[in-house]
Amino acid sequence: MDIEQFRKAGYQAIDNICDYFYSLGDKPLVSPVEPGYLSKLVPSSAPDAGEDFDQISDDFKELILPGITPWQHPSFFAYFPTSCTFEGILGDLYSSSVSNPGFNWSASPACTELEVIVMDWAAKLFGLSPAFYNTSEVGGGVIQTTASDSVLVAVVAARSRYQKAHPNTRIEELVVYTTTQTHALGKKAALILGLQIRVLEVSSDDEFGLRGDNLRSSLEKDKQAGLKPFIFIATVGSTSSGAIDNLQEIGQTLDNYPNIWLHVDAAWAGVALSCPEYREPLRLADINEYATSFCTNFHKWGLVNFDCSGFWVRDRKLLTEALDVTPLYLRTKEGDAGTVIDYRNWQLPLGRRFRALKVWFVLRSYGVSGFQKHIRECIDKNKTFIGLVINSKYFKLVTEPSLALTVFRLLPGKESTQAQTTERLNELNQIFFDLISSRKDLMLTKTSLNGEVCIRFVVGSSRTTLDHVIRAYNILEEEANKALQLWAEPHEVAV
Ligand SMILES: *Cc1c(COP(=O)(O)O)cnc(C)c1O
Repeated sequence: MDIEQFRKAGYQAIDNICDYFYSLGDKPLVSPVEPGYLSKLVPSSAPDAGEDFDQISDDFKELILPGITPWQHPSFFAYFPTSCTFEGILGDLYSSSVSNPGFNWSASPACTELEVIVMDWAAKLFGLSPAFYNTSEVGGGVIQTTASDSVLVAVVAARSRYQKAHPNTRIEELVVYTTTQTHALGKKAALILGLQIRVLEVSSDDEFGLRGDNLRSSLEKDKQAGLKPFIFIATVGSTSSGAIDNLQEIGQTLDNYPNIWLHVDAAWAGVALSCPEYREPLRLADINEYATSFCTNFHKWGLVNFDCSGFWVRDRKLLTEALDVTPLYLRTKEGDAGTVIDYRNWQLPLGRRFRALKVWFVLRSYGVSGFQKHIRECIDKNKTFIGLVINSKYFKLVTEPSLALTVFRLLPGKESTQAQTTERLNELNQIFFDLISSRKDLMLTKTSLNGEVCIRFVVGSSRTTLDHVIRAYNILEEEANKALQLWAEPHEVAV
């Protein structure tokens, strides 16, 4: 393809993308394809001779789109929000056009310098302490691919710091601390690094957030057993229910353990810190006082297309001391002089994408007020949903709703609930969830809290209107009625 052919195909691609967005609301939320569908349609080897691009482009529409779940659909209330803004798409496009691995400052100065700047913009947007700003020259922010990568970097750096402070530590003694509500990224990091993991229980009385006493007693027990906890992965806004660990109590407890790293994972909820009214409930003051590192994903609720995970540390040296390997061919005079940031030393891989561009585009186009408006509107729509659930004769909130997330379950009338076992109620909610899942016009996910099967409802798309929320609620009532009838009949279900 030459430049003029690209011009033509590029205009065509943008037209196709616009058509996709115009028709998004009419698409089925569940892709109709069966596993292996694509291998029946696409040859098993690359073509010998090059093909016509019109044909290739048509095949995206014909073969690929049917197998795409439309996460940007206005009736997508599942998992967590996944941002996709036109500003972000254009940022990715320009970034591709100057494709380069940006590992050192000198590899492309603008890539590093823009990231340094937008990560400070973001730190200010979220109210993070100036200690986390890149301009502090001590702490700083970097864009990682995902929250899982952010946590892996934190665990590697925390381990390195611990081992430097306690040189005789054996790897088998090291323990990663999490709770039952920590995202699976904790387990994954421990698995990758071959480390033990401690999973602390949390209680529904504390809205599934960890308390300081629980952490303290476990740390003491482990210490007596000769084990070496070295990082606690705390959560602000758990995936299941939006649970928030008690960071003040945790921070005070960890004050007695100066070599235990406190990582705060706020992957989906953290962007709500952009609104001052959510800073107290999301424990911003404690994050600023106690966190060694903090992570929130722009690519979830933060208007920037996947992938883009914001990661901040209080002390950048903790990263570079753990991750800096500088063979001769990567040495530069700017790097040696220490006048620039070489982001390759703040992450696991060498090369990196130019993601700062899409953050820059989004933050400039929306402005702080536009970003806040997006967050507030999603939360307001969820408030309407919460109102409907509270006044409903079918549903009950399982835990206090969190921002744009509501966790609820179906109950067989308020009086008869007591008489039912947990198993029977789980059966009912499983039947209910199966009925919802078989619909093509909305999507929700389920979770389990304290052994209870529950349904999650999350608002996150800027395309979701109040009408979509009310329509979704009405569908849920309709399916609840059916579920109650099926449940009352003798049947078998797998929970
Ligand atoms: C979604 C989520 C993650 C995982 O995010 P990735 O960026 O996909 O790794 C981690 N923690 C929480 C609380 C999440 O909601």
